[in-house]
Amino acid sequence: MKSVINEFCTRIGRNRLLVQGAGGNVSWKQAGILWVKASGACIADADKSEIFVPVELGKLSDQIRLGNFDIDLRLHESGGMRPSIEVMLHAMMRFTVVVHLHAVPVLAKLVQARFKEDISGARALGKFCFVSYAMPGAALAKGIHDALVSSPDANVVFMGNHGILVGGESVHEVEKAIDSICAFFEVSTFSAGGASSSSVGSFYKSGKRFIAFPDSEVQQLALDDSLFCRLEKDWALYPDHVVFLGACPLIFDSEKSFMELEADVDLPDLVFIRNTGVFVSDDFGSARSAQLICYFDVLSRLRNVDNLVRLTEFQVEELLGWEAEKYRQKRSNLAG
Ligand SMILES: [Zn+2]
Repeated sequence: MKSVINEFCTRIGRNRLLVQGAGGNVSWKQAGILWVKASGACIADADKSEIFVPVELGKLSDQIRLGNFDIDLRLHESGGMRPSIEVMLHAMMRFTVVVHLHAVPVLAKLVQARFKEDISGARALGKFCFVSYAMPGAALAKGIHDALVSSPDANVVFMGNHGILVGGESVHEVEKAIDSICAFFEVSTFSAGGASSSSVGSFYKSGKRFIAFPDSEVQQLALDDSLFCRLEKDWALYPDHVVFLGACPLIFDSEKSFMELEADVDLPDLVFIRNTGVFVSDDFGSARSAQLICYFDVLSRLRNVDNLVRLTEFQVEELLGWEAEKYRQKRSNLAG
């Protein structure tokens, strides 16, 4: 099983529409052990290093039976690795192989109101259930547990403003389900009408070097007016975006207004300048780059911007104060 899982992880890990940095997780159950991706580890690295942690399934099942979804992940550390914060989701799905992804074609729908109503009766999606957004960890685990009690046959759980959970008896079965779910939701994406790259390559500001983010699609977030106008309002749409890129973006209406900033102002590592470009500091790193690309991929799939469900201020604060997330970020920054 391990080698088939590793091949699967390497395969999906290369697809930016399925896996972004250390996001998502994969597990399988074997002889009473739940092998689950370690917190902060990248699915894409499965062929290069050990990314799975063994956890006694019986211990997790006991807690689920007691209705306790708030487990101390430190107690399940093994080989210096802590299980994913979403380990309970994997334990409560009765399937041998369980995969949780922030799959972009679906995520772009999961941030829209009426998702649940729109998919009711869609047979192509298999047996599924839906849970509204909840803070990842215990609250999300409880929501999914309750949904699975009502829909015990569900092999797919759609998680509002978050992602999907897919179970199957084999990797093949799960992969097939993920493919058909993504195909069901995929739409044609935005195509740029204006300039494709920033006219400014790099600059120094506040003691930091900033470079134009090296992706012509991501540059559209600043170069295309219809996308730029949405940055502020449609920023906080799903947890990993907020956790890695912050509560709100730093936006400037022109290169001039940016250059007029005080020299010693404390700048974040990501800056959007209208009609000029998207710039990142040398410290930005691969984990945040993956999230920035994901954000473009989601935003470029959103047609109807009137019906978006954004994370509330409270939900954003809750995510940014989250100890487990700080641990995961630290690990993924080390990995990335
Ligand atoms: Zn997730």
